[in-house]
Amino acid sequence: MSEIIILAEVINNTLKESTAEIVSAASSLGDSLTLIVPGTSPESAAGIASTYEGIRSVIALQDDCFANFDSAAWCEAISSIAPEGHLLTSSSAIGKELAARLAVSRNSTIIQDVIKIDGQNITHPIYSGKAHQTVVLNGPSVMTIRSNIFKPTGKGGNASISNVNTSSNLRASLKEMVAKASERLDVSEADIIISGGRGMGSPSNFDKLYGIADKLGAAVGASRAAVDTWDEIPHSMQVGQTGKTVNPSLYIAVGISGAIQHLAGMRTSKYIVAINKDGTAPIFRHADYGIIATWEEALPILEQELGALLG
Ligand SMILES: Cc1cc2nc3c(=O)[nH]c(=O)nc-3n(C[C@H](O)[C@H](O)[C@H](O)COP(=O)(O)OP(=O)(O)OC[C@H]3O[C@@H](n4cnc5c(N)ncnc54)[C@H](O)[C@@H]3O)c2cc1C
Repeated sequence: MSEIIILAEVINNTLKESTAEIVSAASSLGDSLTLIVPGTSPESAAGIASTYEGIRSVIALQDDCFANFDSAAWCEAISSIAPEGHLLTSSSAIGKELAARLAVSRNSTIIQDVIKIDGQNITHPIYSGKAHQTVVLNGPSVMTIRSNIFKPTGKGGNASISNVNTSSNLRASLKEMVAKASERLDVSEADIIISGGRGMGSPSNFDKLYGIADKLGAAVGASRAAVDTWDEIPHSMQVGQTGKTVNPSLYIAVGISGAIQHLAGMRTSKYIVAINKDGTAPIFRHADYGIIATWEEALPILEQELGALLG
């Protein structure tokens, strides 16, 4: 049976919750699970990872390169220790880029955005989510696992941890941290998302969305028009066909018209709420709840009501 390697999602040496979902997805492939925890100081994250059920061994992979995202350096560090077999990681923007490099270096098939694993049958969306394709594995693969699909694995395991330091082998990356965006919850793993579009009028008005997001424990997303128009709104926030595909319980679209390319990234959300001043905006055809108003009118009321509800 092939080895199954899970690459944990770790930001600033903190283990992200999506890792428990990747472990759960990996368990559907087999039971020989090795979890690699990368970081500049990964000991504590590896300790948490070792308690996940189903994990046989954890490798705490320490390397200076993990201070800044550089897919070439990360790929080199990970490839130097990862055994052959299937490798699974997160379908975050970083995960997808890294997975592509790892697949080339391991000469493996790549399957992005996996939503179902049934034995060797792997299902993932194609054509911007309009169809699902099922691929039958016939060799080693690299897969990215979409967030909020697989039930996170439980805790109670006690896997062995080995520490590996590859710093001396590799050049440290000098690229800038993507930290600004990652300090906040990423849209691809959030259960509640509030997104702003061009209708927000200016990037500083996104502060209103952050205020509500902080109350709800939500992530803030954006339409492509917002990302393209304002440098302050990074591409990592973009939801849609050429951005991230999200699947939260609640998606609040503010000043977003609901173009087909935006819908491609969020239409499977459990509940969609739209705030738009134009009652004919297409987003209302897909929303469970619609508020026909400007965000200037609607958001202060929403924030006040949430404050009263949540204390
Ligand atoms: C190949 C391709 C890929 C694309 N990929 C993506 C993608 O990944 N994601 C994506 O989002 N788009 C994508 N697009 C762009 C998409 O077609 C739309 O242009 C974009 O989604 C529009 O963004 P928007 O709704 O913010 O802006 P607009 O269409 O300009 O809509 C702004 C909305 O705000 C409302 N509004 C204005 N002022 C207020 C106010 N004060 N209060 C409340 N409402 C207000 C308006 O009524 C309007 O409905 C893609 C396009 C192409 C061609």
